[in-house]
Amino acid sequence: MALQDQVAVVTGAVQGIGRAMAEILLRNGAKVALLDVNEAAGKSLKEVLDKQHGPERTLFLSCDVESEEQIRAAFQRTAGALGAVDIVCNNAGVLNEAEWEKTISVNLVAVVRVTYIALEHMNKMSGGRGGVIINTASMAGLFPLLSCPVYTATKYGVVGFTRAMADKTANSTALGFGIRFNALCPGFVQTDILDNIYERLGQFSQLSAETQVFVDKGVLKTSEVAEGLLELLTNDTKNGEALQVMCSSQKYMKFPVFT
Ligand code: NAD
Repeated sequence: MALQDQVAVVTGAVQGIGRAMAEILLRNGAKVALLDVNEAAGKSLKEVLDKQHGPERTLFLSCDVESEEQIRAAFQRTAGALGAVDIVCNNAGVLNEAEWEKTISVNLVAVVRVTYIALEHMNKMSGGRGGVIINTASMAGLFPLLSCPVYTATKYGVVGFTRAMADKTANSTALGFGIRFNALCPGFVQTDILDNIYERLGQFSQLSAETQVFVDKGVLKTSEVAEGLLELLTNDTKNGEALQVMCSSQKYMKFPVFT
């Protein structure tokens, strides 16, 4: 799939992994709707991107993925202003074992909510033009992070949802959504989530040393995760994949990974 003039919606787009996703999409010719709850950061990112790519290539939309109404409005605005929706990156996420219901709501419930609203725009069976949906899961979606049981559960859920939604028959019959679904599973990445992780372990804070062992093995740059996104978007054979993204030092760790 070539990305030139494709229209992408990225949630959690104004910093961290989402920002790197938006940047690689723009560099490869896509137009990007940046959805995030952080309005101040969204407006300043839009100014930076306008200078680099031109104001018509992006749209910042203040949107809480926990709100069906706000997501619907954001997709309508994107389709109206940028012409369509071809790519969705379900990336917004939080890690907070103390506020575990919020973690499930943002990391898993909202991924389903955004996906189902995206289908209304993209599904070939109802007049859409198909495309690709990429969900940001985690290595914690393939291997439990003991200090973060709820975060782990959400990311296992994202991987399971992605695999079950994957349209194996995209080019033939059955559920011909014409949409490929893939998950990204990065190891630890240098972002705000990682900066404050030990404050958010709640009753599992005594397990921070166990988490630190993984962090000490190496941390990815957001641009490395964005390269994984590019691979999943541009390689048309990728469907139902949970792509592991690890830096070389993380690869020495033995994860019991199910592919
Ligand atoms: P981050 O905190 O830097 O970025 C998260 C973004 O999501 C922020 O811009 C935030 O404002 C936004 N957001 C949070 N709640 C939202 C909501 N309700 N609606 C809309 N936007 C919301 O963190 P990050 O590390 O870039 O995380 C991005 C994704 O990557 C998450 O799904 C996270 O679970 C996943 N991930 C992170 C790591 C890591 O080590 N950093 C590893 C694997 C996976």
